[in-house]
Amino acid sequence: GNLKQRVEVIGNDEIARLCNAFNEMNEKINKIDRERRQFVADASHELKSPLASINVLVESLISSELENKEMAMEFLKDINSEINRLTNIVNNLLELTKLEGSFGMKVEKFDLNDVCLQVVRRVGYIAKTKNIEIFYDGQSVEIEGNRDNIFRALYNVVENAVKYSYEFSRVDFWVERDYRGAIVHIKDHGVGIPEEDLPKIFERFYRVDKTRDRKTGGSGLGLSIVNEIIKKHNGSIEVKSRVGEGTEFIIIIPYEYKG
Ligand code: ADP
Repeated sequence: GNLKQRVEVIGNDEIARLCNAFNEMNEKINKIDRERRQFVADASHELKSPLASINVLVESLISSELENKEMAMEFLKDINSEINRLTNIVNNLLELTKLEGSFGMKVEKFDLNDVCLQVVRRVGYIAKTKNIEIFYDGQSVEIEGNRDNIFRALYNVVENAVKYSYEFSRVDFWVERDYRGAIVHIKDHGVGIPEEDLPKIFERFYRVDKTRDRKTGGSGLGLSIVNEIIKKHNGSIEVKSRVGEGTEFIIIIPYEYKG
C-alpha cells in the first residue's frame, strides 16, 4: 500500500525530528512506487504496439487465404521485423532489471583498451553497411569494474553514433586519462540532438524522433542502460550536441571500483 499520510510534526524535540525523518522516508518510498508503476505502464505500452501490428498482419494473412504470394511475403517480412523489435525491447528490459539487482556483480581489473577494440570490431559490421568509418585512438588503461557491463555501455553509445550518422561519415572514438579516471570520447557527425531533448535522452523509452526510430528499431532503452552502468561504476556522462552537425559523448570511468 501507498502511505499517503504524513505524520504531523509538533515542536522541535527528538520525537518531532523522528517524525520528520519518517515523513521524508515515506516520500521517498512513494516516489519509488510511482516510478515503478510508470515504468510498468510504459513497458506495457511499448510491447503493445508491435503486438498490435503483428495481430493485424496475421489476421490479414488469414483472411487473404494466402492467395497473393508476393503480398503474403511482404506481410511476413513485416511480422519478422516486429518480432525483432519485441525481442529487442524484452532483452533490454531484462538487462535493465539485471543491472538494478546486481549486488553480487563480478568486479575485476581489465584493460579498457581491449574492450574498446572489441566494441570497434562489433560495431564495425554495422558501420560498413552505411560506409561509416570508426577511427579509434586508444591506449592501455587498466580499470576496475564489470567488464561485460562496460562493454555493453560503450557498445550502445558507439552503435548509436553509427545509427544516427549520415552515410559516408566518420565516428571518432578515443580514450584519454586524467586524475578522474579514463575519459572516453565518442564523437559523430550525425543528426544531432535538439537542446531541449538532451536532458531526457537517458530516460527509459525516450526517443527524440519517434517515427524515425521506429524504423531503426530502437527501444529507447539503450542510453538508460548506459546510464545505469556508468552510475554503478561511479562515473559520469556528458553530452554535447548540435542538430545537423553531430554529437559527442564523454564518459568518465574511475580507475577504481568503489561499489
Ligand atoms: P534508441 O534505442 O532509440 O537508440 P537510446 O536510449 O539508445 O534509444 O537513445 C535515446 C535517443 O537519443 C534516441 O532515440 C535518439 O533519438 C537519441 N540519440 C542517442 N544517441 C544519439 C546520437 N549519437 N546522435 C543523435 N541522436 C542520438
